[in-house]
Amino acid sequence: MRGRELRGELDAFLAETEQDLVAFRRDLHMHPELAFAEYRTTQRIAERLTAAGLAPSVLPRGTGLICDVGSGDGPTIALRADIDALPLQDEKDVAYHSTVAGACHACGHDVHTTILLGTSLFLAQQAAAGLLPGRVRLIFQPAEELPGGALEVMAHGGISGVDRIFGLHCDPRVDVGQVGLRNGPITSACDKLSIRVSGPGGHTARPHLTADLVFALAKILTELPAALSRRVDPRSSLSLVWGKVVAGSAANAIPDDGIAEGTVRCLDENAWHAAPDLIKSLLESVAGAYGVEATMDYTRGVPPVVNDEVSVEMLSEAAERALGAGAVVPTQQSLGGEDFAWYLESIPGAFARLGTRSPDGYTYDIHQGTFDVDEKAISMGVRVMATTALTALWEVGPLDSITSALA
Ligand SMILES: [Zn+2]
Ligand SMILES: [Zn+2]
Repeated sequence: MRGRELRGELDAFLAETEQDLVAFRRDLHMHPELAFAEYRTTQRIAERLTAAGLAPSVLPRGTGLICDVGSGDGPTIALRADIDALPLQDEKDVAYHSTVAGACHACGHDVHTTILLGTSLFLAQQAAAGLLPGRVRLIFQPAEELPGGALEVMAHGGISGVDRIFGLHCDPRVDVGQVGLRNGPITSACDKLSIRVSGPGGHTARPHLTADLVFALAKILTELPAALSRRVDPRSSLSLVWGKVVAGSAANAIPDDGIAEGTVRCLDENAWHAAPDLIKSLLESVAGAYGVEATMDYTRGVPPVVNDEVSVEMLSEAAERALGAGAVVPTQQSLGGEDFAWYLESIPGAFARLGTRSPDGYTYDIHQGTFDVDEKAISMGVRVMATTALTALWEVGPLDSITSALA
């Protein structure tokens, strides 16, 4: 049975390459590059893939790349890693700390990149031995933190022809050797809302002759979140929270405009899609009641990552096969955003949380200058990603042909 042999093949591959992969990760860690500026990182990945006989295709901006392994026949499975760093200071006291002031791999994307590189090298060996029953598309995605890199990849055909996609993210609250998984939404949506209210303005002695703009704005600030909570399913946890309000300059003058800005967070995909129109209609009705004009600027962040059940099953089966029984642990939906969500709006797939905490070790947090991982997570990640791709290739063909035959 291929499943059992695969584990032995991965053992042999990692015995040879694990140290090299750790060195690769440390090199990336020392040279972090921000969103859409990952030129060096992209070149490093491309060099290694080319040396393994693969043909990477760098995206037009020069950051991020796509590379196929295996033949065009049979199903195509995509594996995605994000490659960008964060604009914050590295505070770690380690030999491989960032050499770039104000830039740090504090979200573990150096680890994701290294895991996908290791997986690529292993799959290239499998393909050369005639053991890859289809094609694997490797996506080294730029600019996850912006976010927007996923859309850049998709705009250049990154997932066209792909049957399923898988990705993972470091989770410092899960022990190394374990993988957190969840059916359905695993991250949340987060958007920005900015509104501008305008009216004639005037003296505070005569609010009835103008529009009492500050009063109207105050009504909008309280009424909008309240009305919203009564118009959507409470289980979607759609919440609007203001962070900035500006209006007026004198105690006795009604201003002629004012602004309010906030964020909209949401656990549910349907509620997220409906949110802008709903907020706009509520805003217009509250503003209209007080005779002021209101305009809204709604900036989409990312939708929630919604894991597909069949893909979760494949990933779960693969993780247990690769890391042993009991390696998969349940995880909660986080309120954070992740642009992997854009791929899952188009094709099925699953996103997992890879444990990076040393057992009984310190629990780090991501997006902190102190963030670091137990580097054993790299080989664990390679095992999970490679086994997932192969499991999906073994299973996706018949499954999809059955589905399309039924459709
Ligand atoms: Zn991040
Ligand atoms: Zn991240």
